[in-house]
Amino acid sequence: MQKNVLAVDMGGSKLLAGVVSPEGKVLSVVRAELPRTYDAAALESALLSLLDQVDASSCAAAGVSLPGLADAKTGTLLYAPYSGIRDFPAARIITERTGLPAAGDNDVNACAVGEATFGVCKDVSDFLWVTVSNGIGGSIFANGRLYTGAFGNAGEIGHLCVVPNGRKCGCGKRGCLEAEAAGPAISAAYEKKTGKALSAKDLAALAETDRAAKAVWRRTGYLLGKGLFTAANLLNPEKIVLGGGVSLAFSLLLPGILKARREFLFSDANPHLTVVPTGLGYHASLLGAAALAFGLAHPERKDD
Ligand SMILES: [Zn+2]
Repeated sequence: MQKNVLAVDMGGSKLLAGVVSPEGKVLSVVRAELPRTYDAAALESALLSLLDQVDASSCAAAGVSLPGLADAKTGTLLYAPYSGIRDFPAARIITERTGLPAAGDNDVNACAVGEATFGVCKDVSDFLWVTVSNGIGGSIFANGRLYTGAFGNAGEIGHLCVVPNGRKCGCGKRGCLEAEAAGPAISAAYEKKTGKALSAKDLAALAETDRAAKAVWRRTGYLLGKGLFTAANLLNPEKIVLGGGVSLAFSLLLPGILKARREFLFSDANPHLTVVPTGLGYHASLLGAAALAFGLAHPERKDD
């Protein structure tokens, strides 16, 4: 019988740790909030005290999802934009505290592995996983495994240009998908139309009754679709899976996504491509961490 795993989800503002069964059921979970600013020593002590609250006696391995650039070979957080922390050896810290072998990767890759292990891509060997929240990140599954690229950074779909000379992006360029269709861009587009500053979450609730909000979601879906189908023309995936907070408004994005599909997708080459919301639900990143751990505990599953 397969054993459980210990999963750790490191976010910018919070930490989660839990025990996950081989079927992807979260059996227990504990949470710690992080302060607005913190350094590596504070992060380590928060992580250690969280680990001490979990009974990992039923676990064979551990996995951790990391909030930024990561080295998947060592499970190290190389750079976290939120906190500015560099070279944080998360997997090593977890192994030293728990005695379990530990794997780690950035949260978007972890979610993609999670989707392939527990979610809507169990039988899908080629798919794109795209997180839409305060930023936009992507992960490519090709021929049944994660495609990482020469420098480990494949999948940065958030920096495809969708609006020439558009809004300034954090990467220094203009008009990137992330700058035009992530949460802050949704708020900014509505504020430009109406003068009112509301979060993307509030605008999702408002869209039923507010025409300006509805139009912003439609345009966001269209720009998102432009990026998704441009990527699909290159990669020929079977599915594109959307996760992250903004993707909870999937039905509001869909009209724009379908319009973009008609305009940008080479449909004869991609006849059965579907765009779907994640099957992992609220704990996507935690389940992603669990999937990394199952890769360690049962390496044969990777190449099934
Ligand atoms: Zn960019």
